[in-house]
Amino acid sequence: MSPITPLALISVAGLTNAFLGVVLWGVRRHLPFTIPGALPWSLAPLLCTGSTFFFGLERVLPASIVMLCGNALLMSGLGFFYFGSQLFLRQRCTWRAWALAGAALLAGLGLFWWIQPDFRARTLLFTSVAAMCNGAHAWLLLRHGSGFAARLMAQVLVVLCSVLVLRAATTFWLDAPDSTRTTQALMQQIYAVSLHLSALLLSIGCLLMISERVRHEFEYQATHDSLTGTLTRRGIFQACEVEWARWQRYGRSFSVLLLDIDHFKRINDRWGHQAGDRVLQDCTRKIMARLRNTDVVGRYGGEEFVVLLREADTEAAQAAAERIRQSLELRTTTPGIPAYTASIGVATAAAEDDCFDAMLKRADMGLYQAKASGRNQVVAL
Ligand code: GH3
Ligand code: MG
Ligand code: MG
Repeated sequence: MSPITPLALISVAGLTNAFLGVVLWGVRRHLPFTIPGALPWSLAPLLCTGSTFFFGLERVLPASIVMLCGNALLMSGLGFFYFGSQLFLRQRCTWRAWALAGAALLAGLGLFWWIQPDFRARTLLFTSVAAMCNGAHAWLLLRHGSGFAARLMAQVLVVLCSVLVLRAATTFWLDAPDSTRTTQALMQQIYAVSLHLSALLLSIGCLLMISERVRHEFEYQATHDSLTGTLTRRGIFQACEVEWARWQRYGRSFSVLLLDIDHFKRINDRWGHQAGDRVLQDCTRKIMARLRNTDVVGRYGGEEFVVLLREADTEAAQAAAERIRQSLELRTTTPGIPAYTASIGVATAAAEDDCFDAMLKRADMGLYQAKASGRNQVVAL
């Protein structure tokens, strides 16, 4: 049986890359929402395959065209992987600077082909620019990425970078000025195979990163209210049950506020439902502005909110509720938001409650009393 040759490996990697590029393109088109970076990511493997294809045209096209186009496509492919990650991680896309570096690289390659022909200088140039691009990409993923896919991509890039640096460091020692890309030298073969296999692994990394983002987005949508951005009813009660368990096990005090906007139906009737929606968003903003970052807000339903105050006894909870009530009654200066107030019931975890529902019921009773006594007030029970 004949052994697997580097050329065979490169060809298979090139074809698989093309396939993954098409898969990434299809995935991007059918995503339920836009994922930044998915477009350059889907083009990157196609560019890498384009370079494999060009390098295979050595007998058909002039060698200079093959060398320039093949390297340009390969460098663009590596660049597009990097730009995709920058956009995906919501960082500034530095494509302009890299386009300049790419143009300088092509000029250098041309110089060492036509004016001062030297394979070693060309290799040193290409590997240096590619190592810088991949190094910057790995650094970006390590700094701003999270999760398995980002780590996998960073590791692939670090390995590729090491091979590129090794290739750059050894070219003047291993090669001659008139060596060619198809030399049988082991280092050249390791380098060529690594480049193509890395592109393959990077494409897989991109697919994984997209799927992780989609999963996060769906999880977020399932636990967050689309109008106000607060937790949904399920999300807030899950958080409250966890806090309840902590209170039972460790005696860590906590409180809940049940807040209901006063005469909200009238606001809708008088100003319209869109104004009502803006009031709900304004109310959420104001509540959040008055909370510590360990506290959480959820929409109970309609114009009612539940606020979980961690590590807060009755006194602290009452003070927080009063701060919120006062900020809500202050008229917002933003146009299109009518004046409104809210009533708040407060309950703090107590030994008399046998479950979280009993505590919530006390907050509900407090709210009922606040409404009955004229609204726009706080009642703690
Ligand atoms: P109270 O002071 O006793 O709380 O009276 P209220 O008018 O605030 O309470 P009521 O329960 O009578 O009315 C609540 C209204 O909230 C009825 C419903 O149409 C409206 N509502 C529920 N969800 C939304 C929403 O997402 N957007 C808007 N604009 N209105 C909503
Ligand atoms: Mg209500
Ligand atoms: Mg109401």
